[in-house]
Amino acid sequence: MRLEDYDTGERYRARILANAAVTGPEATEEVRELTLEVDRDDFAYAIGQSVGVIVEGPFRQAVRADLDLGHPHHFRLYTIADTPGRSERGKPVVKLCVRRCSYIDEHTGEEYPGIASNYLCDRRHDDVISINGPFGIPFDVPADPEADLLLIGMGTGIAPFRALVKHIYREVKDWRGRVRLFYGARTGMELLYMNDEIDDFTQYYDEDTFEAFKALSPRPQWNAPADYATEIRGRAGEVLEILRSEHGYVYVAGRHDILGVLEKTLSGLLDSEQEWQSLKLAKSRSGHWRELVY
Ligand SMILES: Cc1cc2nc3c(=O)[nH]c(=O)nc-3n(C[C@H](O)[C@H](O)[C@H](O)COP(=O)(O)OP(=O)(O)OC[C@H]3O[C@@H](n4cnc5c(N)ncnc54)[C@H](O)[C@@H]3O)c2cc1C
Repeated sequence: MRLEDYDTGERYRARILANAAVTGPEATEEVRELTLEVDRDDFAYAIGQSVGVIVEGPFRQAVRADLDLGHPHHFRLYTIADTPGRSERGKPVVKLCVRRCSYIDEHTGEEYPGIASNYLCDRRHDDVISINGPFGIPFDVPADPEADLLLIGMGTGIAPFRALVKHIYREVKDWRGRVRLFYGARTGMELLYMNDEIDDFTQYYDEDTFEAFKALSPRPQWNAPADYATEIRGRAGEVLEILRSEHGYVYVAGRHDILGVLEKTLSGLLDSEQEWQSLKLAKSRSGHWRELVY
């Protein structure tokens, strides 16, 4: 669905409870976690859904023609990064994991800040913003507690998986299926929630059914895609079992360029491109393959 087709008429106020860096000072990217208190008691969402953030104009004139110039507001989506919770005042709480974006104008060479991401990253405690939603197809926890999950994320695509893994190991009783998380970034410091300073996932490493693998860009080509291929091929047997099993689920989240590498790697593990295409089609149709890419 195109951004301009979302209904931004109904909006809720959300107060910033916290805004903290998730990346360390050495990282080349800045990613921040925002904690919002939504001023709507019945605001509910499922894991894998996103909220819309509406930034009121006017905007700088020198930005690209397709960036909503002339529109009274700027609308962007952000995936919810935690399981549902409540604030001290009993209101719904939503966490977002936001990468500060910028882009270089190819004609002038000037760097421009992305509107919504910079707006969010610059918010302070008690600021009030406008949001709407939630939107998108959730990453459901399978009803069968023996189902296997292959979670593949890139960059801020870790957000829904952080919520999903937490939900499985904290709230689902007697989970017995395998959970395999492949998470990629350019450098170790950009592995969000999984770096030397903040590692949320260590709390699940004791779980018999959980394993996480890190994929980094091959040095020194920092801009090359994270090397999922090596990580996935290293666990080929297990990945193939999950792919071929009718109880196997594959959820993918993050930058859209993850898909090319992933599809090439997975089709390479199978005997033929044809088998890969029909397997993916069957999994997509049954809801066993879901993508949240942007
Ligand atoms: C369903 C969905 C969920 C999303 N979830 C998240 C999330 O959890 N966290 C998050 O940080 N973003 C997420 N995004 C991306 C987000 O909606 C914005 O596109 C992004 O923050 C840029 O918006 P902006 O207003 O700051 O930039 P704009 O003012 O729109 O400027 C965009 C420019 O920034 C650069 N840019 C924009 N997005 C990206 C990107 N993903 N990677 C590299 N460069 C980019 C491009 O060069 C582009 O020209 C999601 C997008 C979708 C569709």
